[in-house]
Amino acid sequence: MRLDRLLSEMGFGSRREVKVFIKKGQVRINDVVSKDIGKNVQTADTVTVDGEPVNYSEFQYYLLNKPADYLSATEDKHGQLTVMDLLDDNLPHYQDLAPVGRLDQDTTGLLLITNDGQLAHHLLQPKFHVAKTYEALVDGVVADELVEIFAAGIKLSDFTTQPAKLEIVERDDEKKQSRVLVTIAEGKYHQVKRMLGVFDHNVIDLQRVKFGPLRLDEDLGEGEFRPLTDAEIAALK
Ligand code: URA
Repeated sequence: MRLDRLLSEMGFGSRREVKVFIKKGQVRINDVVSKDIGKNVQTADTVTVDGEPVNYSEFQYYLLNKPADYLSATEDKHGQLTVMDLLDDNLPHYQDLAPVGRLDQDTTGLLLITNDGQLAHHLLQPKFHVAKTYEALVDGVVADELVEIFAAGIKLSDFTTQPAKLEIVERDDEKKQSRVLVTIAEGKYHQVKRMLGVFDHNVIDLQRVKFGPLRLDEDLGEGEFRPLTDAEIAALK
């Protein structure tokens, strides 16, 4: 790969910006200064910028804690904020990053973002049944019987869901509200809200806390993101 492309893809700036510091002699290939922006770099070569090694990786994986009000999309023709606005546009391969699946605009929580299209495609295929867990605050006091009803699958107007797991976390008789965890294998539009809505449990707040093997970190604030660990990437594949 060309030196300027490599540095640009790894988030060091635009092709024009990296050209400037390559020409200034800040880049070394195998410990030798290279001012040739078009120099062909091989994977075995060691590239440094100001002495810092550049580790090229084709794919990037991030876990984002999506806040409400952001669309799960790469762009919006009406100019609404998207999750891409929460990422640093200097990230490696920024232009090719995209969220894997969607959360509703008002849903918060775990969203995987990657440029690994093949993995994204795999994770979104219904036949792979990637489990997703949502924590929901709902109106009403959820009855114990719903646990079994969810486990059998819920009939919605256009389809019957696969068996789902409902866990009742807390019930507040005074406020007439409940907190539940719902784990589903599909990811149809508004699915969790619709499943709870069948029983008149309007969803006040919805947060995704798990996606396959990934869990939302407690200390990752809304709007914050972090790279996946190697173990998390391996577990996804
Ligand atoms: N189910 C919903 O209702 N909304 C989401 O954002 C995700 C799952």
